[in-house]
Amino acid sequence: VKKYARAALIGTGMIGGSFARALKDAGIVERLVGADRSRTNLERARALGFVDETAGVAEAAGQAELVILAVPVRATLEVCEALAPVLAARPEVLVTDCGSTKVEVQRAVEAALPFPERFVGAHPIAGTEKSGPDAAQPQLFRGRRCLVTPALATRGDKVAECAALWQAVGAETKYMDPLAHDQALAYVSHLPHAAAFALAQAVGAVDAAGLSGGGFADTTRIAASDPVMWRDVFLANAGPVLAAIDKLEGALGELSRAIAAGDGAAIERLILRAHEGRAKILGNPR
Ligand code: NAP
Repeated sequence: VKKYARAALIGTGMIGGSFARALKDAGIVERLVGADRSRTNLERARALGFVDETAGVAEAAGQAELVILAVPVRATLEVCEALAPVLAARPEVLVTDCGSTKVEVQRAVEAALPFPERFVGAHPIAGTEKSGPDAAQPQLFRGRRCLVTPALATRGDKVAECAALWQAVGAETKYMDPLAHDQALAYVSHLPHAAAFALAQAVGAVDAAGLSGGGFADTTRIAASDPVMWRDVFLANAGPVLAAIDKLEGALGELSRAIAAGDGAAIERLILRAHEGRAKILGNPR
């Protein structure tokens, strides 16, 4: 596996901090320079040992052989614009990201990054509802999947280089086209978050504090997720997310009609279909 004397991490939050630390622990990266818009997160990432030095975005990438973006997806364009001058003369530098959506990120990279064919999008399917460097854990990616999403023009050697990084931190890599990624993740990740936000908000408007059990806590854990990160995911993947929300509205409407009609058999059928759907997506029996 290729080793890097110097790497830059742009965005020193939960995912960036976890990846940086894991790459250092695996001996892949020797020295890591961090950059972040939040001074607090940047200083904290250094205090926790995720990065060795701190700098501005362009400066961090100045001598790096690897540049990792771990910012909210809609910040990609601005970050690539800042990186452009320092990466224009060095087409061999691998640039990768960790973003939860891929089509718009790829578009931003193609618009602003010199030699965009050296950029390889990646999305680790790991994380929590927490954010910031204090929530980072070097073991976060062990045994988890990382979706690697090259575009048609992406260089094959860079794709392999990126996949090797994720494998080195314990993830199982799977290749996906950016659009197929966004369409699938709209259902298995973005829709559950949209539903949890809506559910927690609707229930929160009712005067029932202290009366909930596991049901409310289990279905709304992810409603505690970061507003900026999720604002960006919903806006960047608006088309597929809206289609997924439509599907959920349809299913909720079906349940609502069955209840209104007093149709017990229909309610049972719907719940049984839910069991099957859950088992199918999770890939294991209930
Ligand atoms: P996070 O903990 O909030 O970290 C993101 C960091 O980027 C924050 O310090 C943020 O600063 C900084 N930032 C925002 N805009 C910036 C800019 N223009 N330039 C430089 N720094 C900027 O978020 P995260 O959970 O690590 O997520 C990072 C990326 O990973 C996102 O693209 C997300 O979609 C993806 N991801 C997240 C998860 C998850 O479970 N959370 C899982 C897989 C992938 P501020 O605090 O000032 O905004």
